[in-house]
Amino acid sequence: MTAHDKIHAPWMDAPAVRRLLAALAHGGVGARFVGGCVRDTLLGRAIGDIDLAVDKPPETVMRALEAAAIKVVPTGIKHGTVTAVIERRPFELTTLRRDVETDGRRAVVAFTDDWLVDASRRDFTFNALYASPDGRLFDPFDGRADLAAGRVRFIGDADRRIEEDRLRVLRFFRFNAWFGRPPIDGEGFAACRRNAATLGALSAERVAKELLRLLAAPEPADSLDAMVEAGALDHWLPECLGTRILRALVGREGDQPDPLRRLAAIVATPATARRLRLSTQETLRLELMLSPENAVQVDGDVRSLRAQNYRLGTSLFIDRVLLAVDAPGDWRAALALARSWTPPDLPVTGADVLKLGMKPGRKVGDLLDAVEQWWIAGDFTADRASCLAELRRLVADA
Ligand code: ATP
Ligand code: MG
Repeated sequence: MTAHDKIHAPWMDAPAVRRLLAALAHGGVGARFVGGCVRDTLLGRAIGDIDLAVDKPPETVMRALEAAAIKVVPTGIKHGTVTAVIERRPFELTTLRRDVETDGRRAVVAFTDDWLVDASRRDFTFNALYASPDGRLFDPFDGRADLAAGRVRFIGDADRRIEEDRLRVLRFFRFNAWFGRPPIDGEGFAACRRNAATLGALSAERVAKELLRLLAAPEPADSLDAMVEAGALDHWLPECLGTRILRALVGREGDQPDPLRRLAAIVATPATARRLRLSTQETLRLELMLSPENAVQVDGDVRSLRAQNYRLGTSLFIDRVLLAVDAPGDWRAALALARSWTPPDLPVTGADVLKLGMKPGRKVGDLLDAVEQWWIAGDFTADRASCLAELRRLVADA
């Protein structure tokens, strides 16, 4: 065995991790790190969540953890998953599984104690990487070589794997966006293209999650173009505009990628949000980012930029400036303004209008709007006293 057959990283020695592994070993449960944490460590990147595969049924795993006074939550016990919580950190522990039945959307699984069987039902070679507690790698499909080459490769026959779960088409492009380097794996791509017309059977929620995770990749545009070429967006994003605006947006964002804003860069209609069943909040934000009403004029002077920033609110103003890739003007200056300026609050309220003898009703709102317009036109310099004076003048005129 060479040093390359092992991984080692500080997170593996963290006290919470050691405590978890000791409890499992004491309870007779074999455990290996699996998935993203192993993959990211091999790439020398920071890891996200720590997931483990375990070789005993979930009830046994829960008993082992409880015996060590570790908090454990049965988060998905039917599918073999429990979550241990140590020092407020969650660890997902999933029992080794095999597929009993698949229908292209969801699988019926049974538990097994065979690591290779568990590995075989995973999607891509580098997603079937395991590391034992001492860091020894189990890499049955040579995923490491594929990872090093930037090659996203299906485990087994790609068409069959996609027939088992059509979401794998989207995952193919998601993992290409994150870890792929050209050329894209030809066999996988061809299988995705052959199966693209069947993606309509998936649930909107699963599709949206994969799509947003793809869009969160540092440079998602090439993979998205490949997806369009394969027809993989025909059902879920028929209005996709291609990646011209997205590429420009990615160049403007710096290191603050925002998947929903990136979605706004590839579609033109809020209907997308409904089709993907995004949350109410996400739907609203997408609509605001796309609505022609909220278009920004980037080449205005600083007063105009402040007025626009005030009207839209800072975060929407930033979204619109970043997305306005065809608008003339200095987008960097507009962005710098938004990041350094806090829109003030209008110094007068409805109560001030009522104190001037107006009766509650629509007129009050109209007067407030009028004084606000005046205050904005004056570049927000008028203080409360001046705003009250203007308000009195407006009331007298009314
Ligand atoms: P990330 O770091 O982005 O979460 P991940 O590899 O952990 O990446 P997940 O979607 O969280 O990706 O899935 C965890 C693991 O479960 C994958 O690495 C893969 O082995 C397996 N997996 C998840 N979804 C599927 C699927 N649809 N088909 C086959 N295997 C899957
Ligand atoms: Mg994960």
